[in-house]
Amino acid sequence: MLKILLLIAIIVVAVLLVRNALRTAAGKRNGAGATPGDAPADAKLVRCVACGAFVPKADAVAAGTGYRCGGAGCPPKP
Ligand SMILES: [Zn+2]
Repeated sequence: MLKILLLIAIIVVAVLLVRNALRTAAGKRNGAGATPGDAPADAKLVRCVACGAFVPKADAVAAGTGYRCGGAGCPPKP
């Protein structure tokens, strides 16, 4: 009985180590030290108040009530 419990404990530890290693590898792929879902502020998408398109905040232009994309299909500011 004790052998079975020991085996289960070893398996649980191994699974946790593999999951931790996979998470670390995925984090490195997404950027230095960044965790998935933790996007930099400039990569955050904002919605254009004129045409409704979603654009990265870094590319958007701040308008009175929100952001504008300034794209070709975007109506000019009144
Ligand atoms: Zn727009």
